[in-house]
Amino acid sequence: MPEKRILVVEDEPDIAEVLEFNLEKAGFGVEIERRGDAALESIRRHSPDLIVLDLMLPGLDGLEVTRLLKRDPATARIPLVMLTAKGEEVDRIVGLELGADDYIPKPFSPREVVLRIKAVLRRRGGAPAEGDESLESGGIRLDPSAHKVAVRGAEVPLTATEFRLLRVLLERQGRVQTRSRLLTDVWGYAEDVDSRTVDTHVRRLRRKLGPEADRIETVIGVGYRLRG
Ligand code: CA
Repeated sequence: MPEKRILVVEDEPDIAEVLEFNLEKAGFGVEIERRGDAALESIRRHSPDLIVLDLMLPGLDGLEVTRLLKRDPATARIPLVMLTAKGEEVDRIVGLELGADDYIPKPFSPREVVLRIKAVLRRRGGAPAEGDESLESGGIRLDPSAHKVAVRGAEVPLTATEFRLLRVLLERQGRVQTRSRLLTDVWGYAEDVDSRTVDTHVRRLRRKLGPEADRIETVIGVGYRLRG
């Protein structure tokens, strides 16, 4: 298997170095960018397998970089993990809303970073589930082999996590999925993750589903269900 390429966008040299060292040790190819604007250029040119993005950056801040990446279909599906510092909780929520797949709070343990990144890539590479047949509910159609989703015939760009979330909901139409079940099956791990992560992604997915948004029902105190 070719080595996965990770772009680390971090302006603090010590942190960038720790990340580079540990990710290379874990078998990843690592590039470092120190500015947001330069990172955007690099991503558009080289399309890395995953981006680790600090929020406070010179040139263009991390949220702005995220917004621009997620707006462009060519880069919208590259998995993105944010590094957030204490005091950036609001930005963290905004980042998840914009389409980041996960966040890592600073200070972090290098081991945790490697685990999180592997989990994100595993979800992304995801074991192809029950075949490649397209899944439908109402006006929503998901084509696993083409990795595309259409709502009433119009293609809707989803992030890797949103796509996986929708796929799981579609595969289990009519059945309630608890937050913890979704965390395990969509995010790949269940510990240390705020269940609000699920809510945030569901909210964003609903927004993208537009006129079909209400097919995802909230089951209060439990989780979510896609109407069959
Ligand atoms: Ca920084």
